[in-house]
Amino acid sequence: MLQEIKKPEMFEHDNKYDCNICQKMQDAKKLTMIQKLPKNLIITIGRFQFNRNLLLNEKICNEVEIQKVLKFDEIFEEVKWEESAEYHLYGKIIHTVALAQLPL
Ligand SMILES: [Zn+2]
Repeated sequence: MLQEIKKPEMFEHDNKYDCNICQKMQDAKKLTMIQKLPKNLIITIGRFQFNRNLLLNEKICNEVEIQKVLKFDEIFEEVKWEESAEYHLYGKIIHTVALAQLPL
């Protein structure tokens, strides 16, 4: 899961970036960098994505592996960490929604 943070997010084709400097839709690449880690780390996993064809949010239903230990120093090797870059899972909250049973 942590490796996904480092993957660049591409904005191209029908999902170009609206550049406010040159006032044009441009191809772009978004990268995530981490400079400092918090004492306690809370991760929220976005489970919706926008469907540009249907113009609505869709639920992402693929399985997600929850790692019990996250080691940022192994993923972001180029960063000189001043503090511990390792987190151990303390707990998780899973939101589920059950469809209401309607009378037939
Ligand atoms: Zn631009």
